[in-house]
Amino acid sequence: MTRETTDVLLIGGGIVSATLASLIARLEPSWSVEVFERLDDVAAEASNGWNNAGTGHAALCELNYTPRTRNGSIEITKAVDVHEQFLITAQYWSSLVKEGALAAPSTFINSTPHLAFVRGDADRDFLAARHEALTSHHFFQSMDYSADSTTIEQWAPLLTRDRRTDESIAATYAAEGTDVDFGSITRQLFEDFTRRGGGLHTHTEVTALHRGTDGLWQVRSRDRTSGAVSVKRARTVLVGAGGWALKLLRSAGATEVRGYGLLPVSGTFLSTTAPEIVDQHQVKVYGKAPIGAPPMSMPHLDARIIDGQRSVLFGPFAGAIPKFLKNGSIWDLAGSLRADNLWPLTTMGVKNLNLVSLLARDLLATHASKVTALQAFAPSANETDWQAIVAGQRAQIVKPDTKGRGVLQFGTEVITSAEGTLAGVLGASPGASTAVPIALEILRRCFPQHVEAWETATLIDYIPSLRTSLASDPAFTEQVKEAITSSLDLDQPLAGKDR
Ligand SMILES: Cc1cc2nc3c(=O)[nH]c(=O)nc-3n(C[C@H](O)[C@H](O)[C@H](O)COP(=O)(O)OP(=O)(O)OC[C@H]3O[C@@H](n4cnc5c(N)ncnc54)[C@H](O)[C@@H]3O)c2cc1C
Repeated sequence: MTRETTDVLLIGGGIVSATLASLIARLEPSWSVEVFERLDDVAAEASNGWNNAGTGHAALCELNYTPRTRNGSIEITKAVDVHEQFLITAQYWSSLVKEGALAAPSTFINSTPHLAFVRGDADRDFLAARHEALTSHHFFQSMDYSADSTTIEQWAPLLTRDRRTDESIAATYAAEGTDVDFGSITRQLFEDFTRRGGGLHTHTEVTALHRGTDGLWQVRSRDRTSGAVSVKRARTVLVGAGGWALKLLRSAGATEVRGYGLLPVSGTFLSTTAPEIVDQHQVKVYGKAPIGAPPMSMPHLDARIIDGQRSVLFGPFAGAIPKFLKNGSIWDLAGSLRADNLWPLTTMGVKNLNLVSLLARDLLATHASKVTALQAFAPSANETDWQAIVAGQRAQIVKPDTKGRGVLQFGTEVITSAEGTLAGVLGASPGASTAVPIALEILRRCFPQHVEAWETATLIDYIPSLRTSLASDPAFTEQVKEAITSSLDLDQPLAGKDR
């Protein structure tokens, strides 16, 4: 039942809101929680299975998480951090499966080895050094490296078929990688939330927010079917609106986002369900982004399982469409310009001219040129087997540095405002894989008075490593990985080399 004042109002029906709704329903079952989603269904934007690459980002294959430093060594801090965050997310999912809140794990997560793949001597040397650096940490001990085409063929036959035998190639192989249908998880989390009495309102678009003198938020929304406008009062508002989060935070008067702008990056994938390709390619292969290109244009050839059906995706090909959501408006970018973000956006554009031209180039790419890019991974690829599909839209954060110049950010950022009664998530990567740490960060910031009790009484049962750093505890990591492998019914154990 809809009450006049709700304790928590969540804006958006993607994986971030779904995770927040699921956590709050467990931590404070007596709170009233409502979710407003503008589209006809949840998980229809970036969190939809077809709109993202479905990689359980655990830093097993993404080369941008392990840059080479000036002194030539490989920096693995970011990789260790992302791996730990994925393990937190996976522990929460495991607990929900055990509880019966999520269905059979194969409906949303499946073992799918992760490979990093490079060509040329320089990149082969980088990959060998990266492998050495990563395997010195217990998180990555099970990772293998090879520059031998016979071994690489066993890992991923499409990489070597029809390839010149004198070409220098190398790969790493992490059996413990996963493919995740984030759309399926999102839908299942919301089903569980509504079963527990939570209110989910689809085709309800939030158009404005403001805080009354009583400290409560007045949330104005419009029913996109009937056009009816209503106002709801809420004690706390959490904005999981993807690319439209900045607009809503601004509408709420959040001074914390002053100077912030967004760079929209559209994407397409090539997709195939041809049985001879799908049967041969049951791994995810990540390559290197071209020089000057953003990490999200790092090409990858991904085995996918969505709604139980296998396919292979290649891409994404980034482009410059000025929307902040796939179902957004072509006026999103223009409408986001303000006196305070014009200079940061302009200076970012000037500093990243190669990125801007890359987006424009990819926007103009033909089907044939996309298949040529694919052939660098799978030389035998045939144009007629692959179709283009439109991926989700990203809105990358551009924020001012200390001198007011715009800096492009590739991570996610949690913003809190108005004494913790308002929070929102900006940015995209590594995104859905780290939805649980993102949601926990929001809860810690908005409800600091409850955190100790929540963590010790409830959260620790759902996420056993919550108060420990797995990165510095190899024995506990083994225990946690074994528990995840078993609860999520994974074919390949998440475990060290000795297992
Ligand atoms: C091409 C691509 C590939 C990616 N690959 C991966 C990957 O392999 N692995 C990974 O972990 N992550 C990946 N990501 C990132 C990941 O998909 C996102 O980080 C994640 O899905 C974001 O979830 P969200 O809930 O914040 O946003 P979304 O899923 O976008 O949900 C936001 C919701 O808010 C709704 N909304 C917006 N404004 C309003 C309003 N005013 N009123 C009501 N509702 C509103 C929208 O309709 C939408 O349903 C990828 C993203 C893209 C685009």
